[in-house]
Amino acid sequence: MRFCFAVAALISSFSMTAHAEDISETDLRAHIEILASDDFGGRKPGTEGENKTLQYIATQWQQAGLVPAAGSSSWYAPVALVDRTPLEQTVRFSRFKGEREKTIRIDDDQIMLRSAMQSGRSTNVPVVHVGYGNQSADALAKAVSTKLAFIFVSSPIGAEDFPSYRERKAKVLAAGAWGVISIAGSEARYPRLARRFRRASTNINADGYHAGMEGIITEAAAEKLLRKAGIDYKQLAKDAASGAFSPVETGVYADLTSSTRVRSYQSHNVIGKIPGRKLGSGAVLFLGHWDHLGECRREPAVDRICNGAVDNASGISLLIETAKRLVKDRPDRDIYFLATTAEESGLLGARAFAADPSFPLEDLVAVFNVDTVALAPDGKLLAVVGRGKTDLDKDLEKVAAAEDREIDKTDKANAFLKRQDGYVFLEKDIPAFMITSAFSDQERLDSFLNGRYHGVDDEVDETLLLGGAADDANFHVALGRYFGSVDTYPLKDGGNLGTNSAGE
Ligand SMILES: [Zn+2]
Repeated sequence: MRFCFAVAALISSFSMTAHAEDISETDLRAHIEILASDDFGGRKPGTEGENKTLQYIATQWQQAGLVPAAGSSSWYAPVALVDRTPLEQTVRFSRFKGEREKTIRIDDDQIMLRSAMQSGRSTNVPVVHVGYGNQSADALAKAVSTKLAFIFVSSPIGAEDFPSYRERKAKVLAAGAWGVISIAGSEARYPRLARRFRRASTNINADGYHAGMEGIITEAAAEKLLRKAGIDYKQLAKDAASGAFSPVETGVYADLTSSTRVRSYQSHNVIGKIPGRKLGSGAVLFLGHWDHLGECRREPAVDRICNGAVDNASGISLLIETAKRLVKDRPDRDIYFLATTAEESGLLGARAFAADPSFPLEDLVAVFNVDTVALAPDGKLLAVVGRGKTDLDKDLEKVAAAEDREIDKTDKANAFLKRQDGYVFLEKDIPAFMITSAFSDQERLDSFLNGRYHGVDDEVDETLLLGGAADDANFHVALGRYFGSVDTYPLKDGGNLGTNSAGE
């Protein structure tokens, strides 16, 4: 109750009648106990746990008074996913010396391959080294189309604001490479990458998300391949790090085969909406991922389920309760609620939504992602992931001041910028944030990330702190009121949507 009247006074469009009660820890706990129960199996996409989770969220939103917004009067937007697990491979690299073809031996423990289809094969595919793969789309297309591209995983040492490996690799894929082999940054890094590579990897099941062949290789093996072809690897790495670098035709050819277990299945995003009163005034989006890791331990472990109470049953519970409060307000703008799938596999549900949205993304004036909110005892201090990236910081500070909150002025939380669903919207120049007290204390956050995070202990027990989550939830109601109103947040330029976007 404590911020009720301050908000009512600040927001003129808001009726003076007492609004619904503030969201409490008890409200949130009720949802988390169900979503993070063993019955939901850790909410892994494509399992029975998904069905239960989807139904729970949609039912809650329906009972709250939201309308389905995934298209065709449905709550559920299908997301085609695919798991690939590498099984067997053969590897042969060669080069020509005069007329003679010479084999360059690479041991099987230095390279791992995975094909897009159940079996993949190349014969004499030219190998091109793209360095970090941060060239222009045109230059890349010329260099790698139908070829096998080698790319560095790690960013150059000391480089700031360098595109992520995922972004660089996506560019190489878009340029039409037949295959992509990623060079582990250091020998120490390879075993870790290899362990991850050996497990099933989940991706969106559509063209452009996986090369015909993908793989990882040790730095030593990559260096050997280039040395045998007469290329100075160290010099190449230096040139690539220095900036203007053109992809290098190595003169090496690859004969690769891979058999890969490929499992396709359908997962879903859940989308609901509070219809706004003012048509054409834009929209606000709240989102959070519903998925988690499912059964993440093998027998003989007794507890084998990663329940994901904090990550991210807490966020979904916030979205359910926030929706219940905002629906009573009859906001000017449409307010959408999106529960995404497969965030844990690389923001896949959010990416699928952004690639095929059920409403025009240009309508969005602000996006708020909610992930891992149950860590702080109270919500006084708020970290803002996305701070300094758009022109909405002043507005956020206004809402914070009215709610008696304080915004962390450091941008430490931006370390998580690319690791959360909101980033998919920022990439499209739509202002997107993740605002939470859970990320405001580095020590507390670190102790979670180095402890229960992604483990079987992220479950509902007496250590679960919901004070901050409840305060965060009420803050999101305030955000919905502020950005959902054309009085408190009018669009600049007479209602021309998009003028509030980042970079404009
Ligand atoms: Zn997670």
